[in-house]
Amino acid sequence: MAHRAKPQPPLVMPEGIKVLDGDVDEVVIIPLGGAQEVGRSCIYLSWRGRSVLLDCGLHPALRGRAALPRLEEVDLVQCEALLVTHFHHDHCAAAPYLVGQTTFRGRVLMTHPTRAVLRGLLTDTVRLARQSGEEALYTEEDVEETLRRVETIDFRQTMDLDGIAVTALTAGHVLGSAMFLLEWDGLRVLYTGDYSRVPDRHLAAAELPLRPPDIVIAESTCGGALHESVAEREGKLTRAVGRTVLNGGRVLIPCVALGRAQEILLVLEEHWSRTPALANVPIYQASGQARRDFPLQPPLPSLTWPPVAAPRSLNAPPCPITPRPAAPKESTPRTWR
Ligand SMILES: [Zn+2]
Repeated sequence: MAHRAKPQPPLVMPEGIKVLDGDVDEVVIIPLGGAQEVGRSCIYLSWRGRSVLLDCGLHPALRGRAALPRLEEVDLVQCEALLVTHFHHDHCAAAPYLVGQTTFRGRVLMTHPTRAVLRGLLTDTVRLARQSGEEALYTEEDVEETLRRVETIDFRQTMDLDGIAVTALTAGHVLGSAMFLLEWDGLRVLYTGDYSRVPDRHLAAAELPLRPPDIVIAESTCGGALHESVAEREGKLTRAVGRTVLNGGRVLIPCVALGRAQEILLVLEEHWSRTPALANVPIYQASGQARRDFPLQPPLPSLTWPPVAAPRSLNAPPCPITPRPAAPKESTPRTWR
């Protein structure tokens, strides 16, 4: 089906960003989503007649076509590739729309773990849209076609896309998350997607490219914020959980099912092992998605650092509980008894 997105208001560029007019020696960078907003990350990059898309996500707080990146702003026929940094909805969930419902015919690149998680995530997106009676942006066939088109890339591997060299670097954000270094015609661009320079219990920190890039397109949602140290935050969490549980209470910890849930379980497991009074207190992991995708992690030990300890918390007789949080703007809370 041809791309027939509803006309949207003209793209308003954030102050200070200049869109060049596409002269042969100008680099054109157009954020089609994710600029001064959280969600639907999608960057168009063009240089000397070659162009690629970096990520293609949906806006988590918008529905239907309003959640899509502004794909109509660029010539999708000319886009040679889509590079997907990681499996979070706001970076990948519009990919089946791009592949199945527009004129885009380019290659699709991502890491092995991203592809492994993507099938369930995209199928869920189709199912949930159908259940809620929303306009479906794409079909199961579009999901299958997207997965079929995916070419996987390893960390530190460089792939040649007919003269565009793409290198995947670890991003330290979630399992399989990558930053991409693109090089062609003397230009070197680093696109980070979501990244972390602080290692945690199951992922290494984002790595730096061996040679400095000319341009860095970086995620900066929390770039201006000062956070407490990891030790301070973990101390607050474990003290609050331990105090509540030992007083007979229960603790709900809403967290993202993949990545954050595993990290919190490892934090709790470490605290449990240091606190004899908690030894017999079970921990529940209450997320079907995490249970489904967690087994992906052990077979891919080279992608995690340090290696993940056996997740005792997941198999223990099931009281901290880490449920999956509701999506933004979803108003009906799930009931826990
Ligand atoms: Zn993310």
